[in-house]
Amino acid sequence: MSAAPSFATRVALGARPHAPVNQPVVLPIDQSSGWVFRSLDEVDAVYEGRAPGYIYGGSGVSNHEAFEALICSLHGSQAALATAAGMSAFAAALLHLAGSGQRVVAARDLYGNTTRLLQDFGKFGVHTDYVDASDLDAVAAALRTKACLLIVETISNPRVRVADVRALGAMARRLGALFMVDNTLATPYHCKPIELGADLVVESATKFLGGHHDIVLGALTGSQSLIDPIRRLAARAGLVCAPFEAWLALRSIATLDVRLARSSASSLAIARVLAQHPKVRAVHYPGLESGPTFASAQETLSNGFGSVLAFELDPDRKAVDRLLGALAHIKLVLTFGGVTTTLAHPATSSHRALSAQARDAIGIHDGFLRLSVGVEDPSDIIADLEGGLAAV
Ligand SMILES: *Cc1c(COP(=O)(O)O)cnc(C)c1O
Repeated sequence: MSAAPSFATRVALGARPHAPVNQPVVLPIDQSSGWVFRSLDEVDAVYEGRAPGYIYGGSGVSNHEAFEALICSLHGSQAALATAAGMSAFAAALLHLAGSGQRVVAARDLYGNTTRLLQDFGKFGVHTDYVDASDLDAVAAALRTKACLLIVETISNPRVRVADVRALGAMARRLGALFMVDNTLATPYHCKPIELGADLVVESATKFLGGHHDIVLGALTGSQSLIDPIRRLAARAGLVCAPFEAWLALRSIATLDVRLARSSASSLAIARVLAQHPKVRAVHYPGLESGPTFASAQETLSNGFGSVLAFELDPDRKAVDRLLGALAHIKLVLTFGGVTTTLAHPATSSHRALSAQARDAIGIHDGFLRLSVGVEDPSDIIADLEGGLAAV
């Protein structure tokens, strides 16, 4: 036997226990960027998918695989890709699907960063035309000129308009465009767009899937033949997430059903109370019968209508500040989807880059607020809002 290694070598090699005969109840975090191979045949077998194994942290480890498998299971899809953020899922899909001279048709009501990313792709020769996704005739007219992609949000952020995903999917297929749906506000708890005819679904797991305001993570899901080349691009461009984020997402999704059952029921109750409040000029919630997309919401959503609503005060920043100052628990936080109820002010955040006129044209004035409803007792949320509104 060779001599015991020196101190420097023992420091470098570290130590590890023998492999146990049993498994931990929770999947451990594969915090390793590299994997050990016993032979070149083993390298070939793992590369070619003939043996289970991992190659490199950036090409996915057990935590990514587990998160991706759960996304497939919840969406009823063939394949999924974990990404560093919701926006990197979009970027990876666009890098693969849209090239110079190609045209995208997108809903006018899109998350601000998605619109800006589509503008960024303009410099690669990708042109985007925007339509009102609730006007099926307008979408059909836009798709009659050849387009590679139709992009909509199931429930739009922040105006909470619901797209008729099934009708749009059939139309995109007929007119030769792939159909990509951003399902972030709905999550698979309320909508499974693949089952309604979408080709690709984006989830920002930063929001309700993560659910606790503590991760930034995304996912893209669809057919194997679409996801495989996008996965290769995403790995090459480093659009991948850390294993800890995927691990946290699995922990969080375990409670998705109970969290959203509570918060979506609370949202409807809160929307009804706000709709009667004299200080509130308008309430936007997919489950209100008076809303412009209620019929689409009934077609597209199940298990309720989501946990995001918007309401309008007079267009006056000082009124908003009086509300914020008088709220006991609800905080101004410019993201959403956590277990606590939060408010956002799109005019100074997601829609900040637009001119006041452009904001007014889409109804995002200084009195427009987005409420993300958490899992607190709904009567406490309502009492807090009523106390805040009394100060407006
Ligand atoms: C937040 C959000 C995104 C982007 O997600 P990130 O994880 O922040 O990159 C995309 N779409 C919608 C609708 C969002 O709300």
